[in-house]
Amino acid sequence: MPSAREDQLVPIEQAELLARLRWFIQLRWVFGAATLAAALLMIEMPLGRVHARMLAGIGIAILGYNWLFWFLEGWLSHHRPEAHARYADVAASAQIILDLVALTFVLHASGGAGNPFCLFYVFHMVIATLLLRMRDVFMLAGLAIVLFTSLVLLEMYGWLPHHSLFGLEEVHKSPRYVAITLVAFASAMLTAVYIGTSIARRLREREHEILRLERQLADYTRELERTNQELVKADEEKTQYFRKVSHDLKSPLAAQQSLLRALLIQIRESDAQSAAHVERAIARGDQLLALLNDLLLLSQAKDVVRGPRHEWIDPGDRLRAVIDAQALAAREKGLDFFEEMDTPLPAICAESGTLLTLAENLISNAIKYTPKGGRVTFSLLSRDEHLIMAVRDTGIGVAKDDLPKIGQQFFRTSQARESGSPGTGLGLAIVRSMVEAMHGRFDFQSELGVGTTVTVALPLAHPEMLREVEPFCRLEDRRD
Ligand code: ATP
Ligand code: MG
Repeated sequence: MPSAREDQLVPIEQAELLARLRWFIQLRWVFGAATLAAALLMIEMPLGRVHARMLAGIGIAILGYNWLFWFLEGWLSHHRPEAHARYADVAASAQIILDLVALTFVLHASGGAGNPFCLFYVFHMVIATLLLRMRDVFMLAGLAIVLFTSLVLLEMYGWLPHHSLFGLEEVHKSPRYVAITLVAFASAMLTAVYIGTSIARRLREREHEILRLERQLADYTRELERTNQELVKADEEKTQYFRKVSHDLKSPLAAQQSLLRALLIQIRESDAQSAAHVERAIARGDQLLALLNDLLLLSQAKDVVRGPRHEWIDPGDRLRAVIDAQALAAREKGLDFFEEMDTPLPAICAESGTLLTLAENLISNAIKYTPKGGRVTFSLLSRDEHLIMAVRDTGIGVAKDDLPKIGQQFFRTSQARESGSPGTGLGLAIVRSMVEAMHGRFDFQSELGVGTTVTVALPLAHPEMLREVEPFCRLEDRRD
């Protein structure tokens, strides 16, 4: 007996059951037609004592009820979709019962127990295991055994005529032959059904497990999407908060710095000790102002593609002053400064301050983190519709383990902190945000104690960016 749990399992999903039923209807067209064709052939060329006319009738009956199922299937799916799903279970059982009856008649017309085609009962059982619950499959196997046994016994006792296939008259009347045939038939049927249903049950359990996991996965995905949206929102709120706090703090601090500078001028001559204190206060205040400026820049970095201040920029021209100022700072520190630039450089569509911020951050880092006697090289090239800005130095470098953290807000390596150079750890976060917003690429290569190369590749005219900043960068205004 099947356990309660096995019985609770839905055999297969309704949609799949209906698809399989459709396929069996197609198969039945072939079998019905083959039976009819064989019968017609045997009317012309008799085979043993096969009842060809009865066989032809059965062929027509098979085609007839198959047409009925085909019609019902089509009609229900169009007109009564809700009944269509319920119909599947009933239709599967009804079709198999009719097939078993038809097969019994085919066997009766063509040799009874002596016809090797009695094996076809097994095919029906295989089909049943694919479609139905275990309990129903065993009931159908029972029905097949009852039908075949009745046929064989009725022919043995002479209550039904025997239409011999091979012209051997007596064998169907031998109780021993009949008994062996029936035992072999019943055991083959039950074994086939047992194996078939066991495999089908395991497959269905797996199908259900896969289905359950798929649903779970879909739930997780939805949850992940929701959390992601919340994170994006929280990030946006944090940015807004940064922006507001930095902005509100900047004005009073700038005013305080001006007052301190005025005070310093007044007391520098008269009170050297106080002047030193004020100078330190001013230096600290300047650091704080720099931090606020960085925070403000960071909060605006993602907006660099939306600003109305976009235009076609000649990068070499625009960066000239910054490069010269940084070259001076490098030489003052005792570094060699080199410059490599393609001439002419193509124009790039960008917000006017962005290129300056990028160059300033990268070159100032190189100068800051390269000890005296080292070398800094700034290059500006054009490759594949991109502006490539690269800064190479022979400075302190970054350890391999720290490389993934470079560009995270407030991250500074222990070597950078120990070098004594001031910094907030926001410069590269700003650079990365700006580069991402411009659909560009950021690359940081470094080796501890050897040096660093930072490369930024910016599309000259990214289509999405052009769409955002229309009409400030029109392609017809571009000059190469
Ligand atoms: P600031 O925000 O004032 O620029 P910072 O220079 O410390 O401060 P970032 O520019 O964001 O911050 O750089 C982050 C960290 O990356 C630095 O603290 C340093 O550890 C490392 N770094 C960046 N550029 C270089 C470089 N050229 N050589 C070695 N380390 C570097
Ligand atoms: Mg920096």
